[in-house]
Amino acid sequence: MPQTGNILVIGAGIAGMKASLMLAGASSKVYLVEKLPIIGGKVIKNEESFPNLECSTCMVAPIQQDVLQNPNIETLTYSTVEKIEGSAGDFSVVIRKKARYVSLTDCIGCGMCYEPCPVSLKNEWEENLINRKAIYVPCSGSLPNVPVIDSEHCLRLSCGEDCSLCAESCAFEAINLEDVDEVLEIDVDAVILATGSSTFDLSSIPDLGYGTLPGVYAPLEFERLFASNGPTFGSITLRDSDKVPGSIAVIHCVGRREQKYCSAVCCMYSFKFARFLKHKIPSVNVFNIYSDICVPGKNYQSFYKSVEGVDTEMLYTSSIADVSVSESGSGLKVAYPDAAGAMKELSVDMVILAAAIVPDDDVIELAKITGVNLDSRGFIATVHDGSGSMETSRKGVFVAGTAEGPKDIQNSVVQAESAAGQVMGIVTSEVSVS
Ligand SMILES: Cc1cc2nc3c(=O)[nH]c(=O)nc-3n(C[C@H](O)[C@H](O)[C@H](O)COP(=O)(O)OP(=O)(O)OC[C@H]3O[C@@H](n4cnc5c(N)ncnc54)[C@H](O)[C@@H]3O)c2cc1C
Ligand code: SF4
Ligand code: SF4
Repeated sequence: MPQTGNILVIGAGIAGMKASLMLAGASSKVYLVEKLPIIGGKVIKNEESFPNLECSTCMVAPIQQDVLQNPNIETLTYSTVEKIEGSAGDFSVVIRKKARYVSLTDCIGCGMCYEPCPVSLKNEWEENLINRKAIYVPCSGSLPNVPVIDSEHCLRLSCGEDCSLCAESCAFEAINLEDVDEVLEIDVDAVILATGSSTFDLSSIPDLGYGTLPGVYAPLEFERLFASNGPTFGSITLRDSDKVPGSIAVIHCVGRREQKYCSAVCCMYSFKFARFLKHKIPSVNVFNIYSDICVPGKNYQSFYKSVEGVDTEMLYTSSIADVSVSESGSGLKVAYPDAAGAMKELSVDMVILAAAIVPDDDVIELAKITGVNLDSRGFIATVHDGSGSMETSRKGVFVAGTAEGPKDIQNSVVQAESAAGQVMGIVTSEVSVS
């Protein structure tokens, strides 16, 4: 098949990876740019994914491997796009490939360089539940399995200290402490934005105790606590103690009042958590406190029905915005108005806040660089809102996945393949014209 154009895909989560594979399969040359040192996005934080509770690693690892091994995909990790000029069919792109300080070709991922590093700081990828070194991979099972040096915290690179302990411990001479950023200039025909989303800032609602009460958890923290490659190797124990929680409340729709839309996945991940908890701690009592339930379609409804009353007790509140969490002895007290508006109290050991899905922190900057419009909620807008088209306000630039709005894995993949299909429509028509 003839080469059918160069395509830039920004973001290597499930949406970006699936779009890249489809385009590479149709003989396009794909530049896949990911800002983190690893690919996979948020799905690799989950041990299992709803609705079938499929092992996430088993689902995503083959996709990650296919991306990294595909000769038509140039994966640029630890990289960001700085400029996009031109128009559809003829974009000039500037990409900054940050210095990694470790060779992707010489490193064999043995991990011998981590231990000697004297620096210890919170691992953001692990939701700050564990520490890492200045030379590190974000999690076990990272792909590519090659560490990166965090130059802001490395003693040599940030403070000029005479340290090279990591390089001395590498038998493969894979570490280059003199590495520098690289700037690449490429030409592409079309662009797909697949930069994902973020979760609501829970500390902005002080009444829920996130950040002040150690027993209160964000949903991605809980995903990592449950994960067998996570900070506790999958054992569910309370922060700063080895105590296994005996009772847990999951509070739905946190941030919905502020965001004014349904985040589409929080009910389902809350029910997934209830199933996980009962599976790991059969004696645990789980309560889901909710005002609305969103479980559309045949699979979600039946998953909810299988969990309701079996893995969790459902507690309706007439006002989710009036739920509060406070300290009570060695545990937590959740106060909520019941259906009649009377205040009720619940004593639990742990609270998980089902945070709304919100636009990624970087999206405004990305919109400026790529010249696309955002919608009224701050997600990347499509031009034909409602028709299913993935084209943005800039011709030749498409969007897919949660960068466009909250959605699950299946719908992110559907959008990714739709965006790739629309891009193929452009590049194959150019090939047939020329
Ligand atoms: C707690 C929780 C549990 C969930 N559980 C499930 C579940 O069980 N089942 C299910 O179907 N869905 C679940 N979801 C939803 C699922 O996570 C999303 O549907 C999926 O991650 C969307 O994939 P994505 O590729 O659009 O975005 P992401 O997974 O967020 O990937 C985006 C990628 O883009 C990169 N990126 C961001 N900005 C830039 C930039 N400027 N330049 C370069 N790269 C960039 C990011 O680093 C990331 O790698 C859950 C969501 C949450 C919050
Ligand atoms: S840089 Fe060297 S020591 Fe560190 S993981 Fe790679 S091969 Fe092993
Ligand atoms: S040079 Fe930096 S990364 Fe390497 S061991 Fe020293 S502090 Fe750690």
